[in-house]
Amino acid sequence: MKKQFFIIDTSAILSGKPIRLDNISIVTTPAVSNELSPGGRDFRTFELLKETGLTIRAPSKEAINRVKKTTQETGDDSRLSLADIEIVALAIDINKESDQEATILTDDYSIQNIASTLQIKFQVFSQKGITKKFKWVSRCPGCKKQFNEITKICPVCGTITKSYPLHKKNL
Ligand SMILES: [Zn+2]
Repeated sequence: MKKQFFIIDTSAILSGKPIRLDNISIVTTPAVSNELSPGGRDFRTFELLKETGLTIRAPSKEAINRVKKTTQETGDDSRLSLADIEIVALAIDINKESDQEATILTDDYSIQNIASTLQIKFQVFSQKGITKKFKWVSRCPGCKKQFNEITKICPVCGTITKSYPLHKKNL
């Protein structure tokens, strides 16, 4: 079984839809990080996610160039920000390793279009009028307790938790 990665964009930092709960690495890119301004509510969520397992990875130059070339071919180049391009490029880098599989979590149509063209998996998390289908939760690897908000340290046993996006109906 391949190691699963969720790549999240700015909008997915607050809402989205997971495929599974366990054994997922959640990653994002420096440009997404730069889109979040310090002090805001989103930034606080972002900081907590980083404390509970979200990692930031810069994609390779080759992957970025490949995405840029593809966006020119599909006509999406004017609609994609640097953050969007990095998200797709990071998926290319992750999928290069045969034991890894990336899924992009996004509701951005241009990202979905590029991902399809490059045969990268993606999950859509919102449709018109429906947002926040999932909630970030934390789970303690020590005592297995789940918390319905991002909690850095387990209040029961003191272990550092991991955070995941969880579908609301599973809460
Ligand atoms: Zn615990």
